[in-house]
Order: sequence, then structure tokens, then C-alpha cells
Amino acid sequence: MKYISTRGGIEPICFEEAVMTGMARDGGLLVPETIPDASTLLPEWKKLSYPQLAFEIIKLYSDIPEAELKKLIEKSYISFSTSEVTPVVKLNSFYILELFHGPTLAFKDVALQFLGNLFEYYLQKTTRQLNIIAATSGDTGSAAIYGVRGKNKIRIFVMHPHGRISRTQELQMTSVVDGNVFNIAVEGTFDDCQRILKKLFEDVEFKEKYSLGAVNSINWARILAQIVYYFYAAFRVMEETKAEKVRFAVPTGNFGDILAGFYAIRMGLPAGKLILATNENDILARFFNTGKYSIGPVHKTISPSMDIQVASNFERYIYYRYNGNSARVNELMKRFASAGEFSVEPLQSGEIDSLFVAGTANRKATLETIAQYYHRYNYLLDPHTAVGVYVGTQFIKVGEPLICLATAHPAKFSEAITEAIGKNIARHPKLDALHGLPTKCDVLPASLSEIKRYIEDKLNK
Ligand SMILES: *Cc1c(COP(=O)(O)O)cnc(C)c1O
Repeated sequence: MKYISTRGGIEPICFEEAVMTGMARDGGLLVPETIPDASTLLPEWKKLSYPQLAFEIIKLYSDIPEAELKKLIEKSYISFSTSEVTPVVKLNSFYILELFHGPTLAFKDVALQFLGNLFEYYLQKTTRQLNIIAATSGDTGSAAIYGVRGKNKIRIFVMHPHGRISRTQELQMTSVVDGNVFNIAVEGTFDDCQRILKKLFEDVEFKEKYSLGAVNSINWARILAQIVYYFYAAFRVMEETKAEKVRFAVPTGNFGDILAGFYAIRMGLPAGKLILATNENDILARFFNTGKYSIGPVHKTISPSMDIQVASNFERYIYYRYNGNSARVNELMKRFASAGEFSVEPLQSGEIDSLFVAGTANRKATLETIAQYYHRYNYLLDPHTAVGVYVGTQFIKVGEPLICLATAHPAKFSEAITEAIGKNIARHPKLDALHGLPTKCDVLPASLSEIKRYIEDKLNK
């Protein structure tokens, strides 16, 4: 499989290059040249374990020799606490797809465990080093650190805003004391961290000299790894209910998770709807309800991993919506960059999209949803998952079982749980065990030059 840019400005590149560069040189996002049709394979795929299914799907998009790909996938999912990797549980009239059984208890592990091993695989053939730089407001940082800790030829620098992330999130990162992991607490906000990150990558000389790399959610390998659980969950639920179709509700921020569902459906997965759920940062929900994509201010919410206004993967959706017309993608992205908005025409049916529907859960609805499912069904939803359940259950359709993606373990966001039900009952032994461990973190001012000097200093050692 070759990869091309949504903006049409590059020659096709191979899977390795797509994974290692992350982004297309023309400023666009990388997409596979074609989407393989797997509909005739589904009867076989139904019988497979999670790692076997992952192998069959990833094989279609990569050119890694089969034996090595198999090893790589097995290694990535052995770190999950259940052999099912992403189990499905029944809750009242719908299903929960639990994506939080990885090392950091959030769905990002599914992709980042795999990506870390992919990086290692490609680097082992070369003399190259990879120095990953990331900025995090919480979940991505720890999942990325756990993806590459202890790996040869890879070092990772993660900036987080000092004192502005939860104690649990901070400990999940700083308690990793491997020699290749550097935690930087930046004396500033998350925006400061992101600004510095952007500047570091814009400095081409510095970037090349130190072979800087990124792990952000636009990396194709992250989307690819996430396609697997859509199939896995649909097979489980269709088997149990004998339904011929399912629908998915996805708590959404950067549009990476739900985009994987879109690819799964394009590959032949029988699904009726993709239900996009946002918190008060509702740019995407507004888009799918009105056709207008317009940026607003970022709101701080109790589902912080979705506090995003500009969804970095959305450009891939636009690309498919216009059937691969890169000129149109360029035009819309340019308009968005200058005016902060653009609109698309509704379909003939009057809908904005025939597959996606969308809604928003505000703070009150999210807290009530957590309380309701705890009291009625004794099941604890984390606040992100609660957003998905609240919106998803507004789109129930008989004969099309609903699968709500659970993106984090509730113990990661115990403050919200306490607020919702009045006591702190969201615990996880992995998080309890973090307290009292040795930690490693350096506090630096929110200054590009200081952070550059720090990175150089560590890399020249
Ligand atoms: C990252 C994240 C999301 C949002 O996923 P996107 O791919 O950015 O849409 C939702 N929930 C949790 C817990 C996350 O960490």
C-alpha cells in the first residue's frame, strides 16, 4: 500500500515513510491510496482473536514481512491486562467497548503501544536515532511514554504544563524513570507547551540535526491500529444479537478514534451510523448538524482529553467527502486558516452526512449520566465515556445494537466521579501503586531557547 497526501502535493510514499514522517510534506495528511474492500473476508475474521484480527487488518496496509508483523502485534498487545485486549460488555440495552485495559488505562494505548514497536522495528535496521518531542495536557503523554520506554534508539521528551494536570496524570508520566524518558514540566499553560513544540518542529535545522519525531494523532499508524477494535466489537455484538448491523458512539476530540470507525465501515464493516459525541467543545457536533465548521474558544471541561477546537484529523474526512478532490481540500483548509470557518453543502437528502450524526453533552448531562449508570447498573463511566453514552443513547435504533466506546478507566478521572456520585470510588491498583514511587521530571520556564538547550544538553551526553 502506498500513501498520498490529502492536499495532492506529494508522490506516493511507502508505509515506512508514512509512519516515520507522520505528516505529508505539502502540509496535508497522509491517506492510503485506496481503502481495501474486506467484505468477503468478514466470515473468516469473525473467528479470530484480537491479535490475529489486528494482523489481518494491518497486513492490508503495510509491507512488513508477515512473521515480523505478527511478532510486532503480539508484543504490542501482551501489555494489556486482558487477552481480549478490548472487551465488550453489555450494559442495559447497549454495549460498552472497553478500550482502557492498556498500561495507562486510556484508549490511546491501543495505538501507541503499536506505534512504539513500529518505530523500534524500523530503527533497528538503521543507524538512526529518533527523538520524540510531545506536548500533553494529560493522556497522550503517558500513553506515548509507555509506548517507547526502555526502547533502543528512541528518546522521548514530553512537555506538560507544570501544576496544571491532574496528580494522577502527572504521576503516570513522572514515575517512568527509564533513561530514554524526559519529563519536562513547563512553567506555563498547555498552549505554551504546544507553541514551543510547533516552534521546535519549524526549526528545520534543529529538527534534522536531532532527528526529531512526533507521535501525534495524525500519524497513520495510530488510525490503523484503531480500525481493529471496531471490527472486533461488531463481531462480538452481531454474534450475540444476530443483528446484521451495529452503530457506534464515539467521544471525540481530535477525530482520530471515530475516523478509524469510518475506515472500518469503508472496508466493509456493516454499520448504520457513527455517532459523534463532544463536550462543550462542540465544533464537530455543530458541523455535522449544520454543515458549518467554525472555530470557537476552548472550554475547560471535566472530559479534558476532548478539550480541543481544531480537530487535527478532520482534514481526512473532508478529503473523502469530496471523493479525493485535493484542490477542494486545499481551498477549504486555506479558507479555514484565514477566516476560521468554512461550510459544506448538505446532501440531497438534506442531511450533512449519511453516516455521521452528532450531539453534545454538557457538564451537567455528563455528571448525571455517570450517576445514573452507577446507581442503576453499578457501572462506572469515566467522564469521556459518559459523553459518548449520553449522546449515543439519543440515537438508539431497534435492530441496530449500539456500541459505546469507553475511552478511559474511571479511576483516571476520579475527581469527576467524586463530583458525580459524592464519593471517591473510582480506583485502580495500577494508579494506587504510583504513589510513593521515585519520579523524574525537570521544571523549565516556558521558553523556547531554554527548552532547546535542555534537549541539546540531554542528547549530547
Ligand atoms: C484522546 C481521548 C479522546 C478523544 O479521541 P480523539 O481521537 O482525539 O477524538 C477521548 N477520550 C479519551 C479518554 C482520550 O484520551
